Amino acid sequence: MHLEGSRVDAVLLGLDGFRLLAVREVGGEVDLTVETTATVVGCGGCGVRAHSKGRKGVLVRDVDAFGRPVRLRWVKRRWRCPEPACPVATWTEQSTAIRPRRAMTERARGRACRRVGRDGESVAAVARSFAVGWHQIMGAVLEVGAPLVDDAARTNGVRALGVDETSCAPRGAVVPCGDERAPPLVVAATG
Ligand SMILES: [Zn+2]
Repeated sequence: MHLEGSRVDAVLLGLDGFRLLAVREVGGEVDLTVETTATVVGCGGCGVRAHSKGRKGVLVRDVDAFGRPVRLRWVKRRWRCPEPACPVATWTEQSTAIRPRRAMTERARGRACRRVGRDGESVAAVARSFAVGWHQIMGAVLEVGAPLVDDAARTNGVRALGVDETSCAPRGAVVPCGDERAPPLVVAATG
């Protein structure tokens, strides 16, 4: 079987539409530089072929690889419309895999949500392992987890659902959500 270059990169990365530019090891972490394969794009406003306006790098955390933390450097393409009358003017490319103003890839956010919601790890511990802030992980839990709670098939027989802001630490002490001993609990009332 023969796979052309960008397809090999997509398989290696697991991110469709991206290719790998460089792999480095920095301080025990895997550092991947990536770009999209979209070298020709049309203006969203008028449809003419866009001109390059340079690059802008963003750094996000990704899922672990080979047991080591991964940083993804996405060298984003910036574009401009050559039509003087076009209101669009300039823009930076977007991806559903790495959303704007997020410190993590979407798949890393999904992994973080599962570690908290399914595996019972604390938000603080997961935040530490991804080297991101507590609010980044809690945001992922609420955003990625909410559709699962809303899925009627998964909550059949449950009368009420909510996120508990406190949980019981060992020996019955109640500690506030945010404390690393206290994973937020999704509570279900049945019957
Ligand atoms: Zn245009």
